[in-house]
Amino acid sequence: MLKSKRSPILPPPPPENKYEIFIDSEQCDGCELCLSFCPKDIIEISEDKFNSRMLHYATVVKPDECAGCRQCERLCPTVSLYIVEIYIKEEKNNE
Ligand code: SF4
Ligand code: SF4
Repeated sequence: MLKSKRSPILPPPPPENKYEIFIDSEQCDGCELCLSFCPKDIIEISEDKFNSRMLHYATVVKPDECAGCRQCERLCPTVSLYIVEIYIKEEKNNE
């Protein structure tokens, strides 16, 4: 498999955090900007699913590998995508 040559615009945050990616499939236009700039190839356009406007929308395929760089979030022209940061330390404290 080809290795991505893309890199985040800003350095990713510390690795002790993990990230969840939320995509509003109804708002997404399937423009592919987010996946074109994701350095980890985490997002793909669904091939067999459509939203109510009959557009293929973006889906997350490797959620655990997100680096949290937020490049996708910054670039999305329809504000359909956002990243939520989860502090692993906080999770451990709550256990
Ligand atoms: S924040 Fe977005 S662009 Fe960055 S690694 Fe995660 S899914 Fe990819
Ligand atoms: S950049 Fe936004 S509108 Fe374009 S495919 Fe990604 S989530 Fe959808």
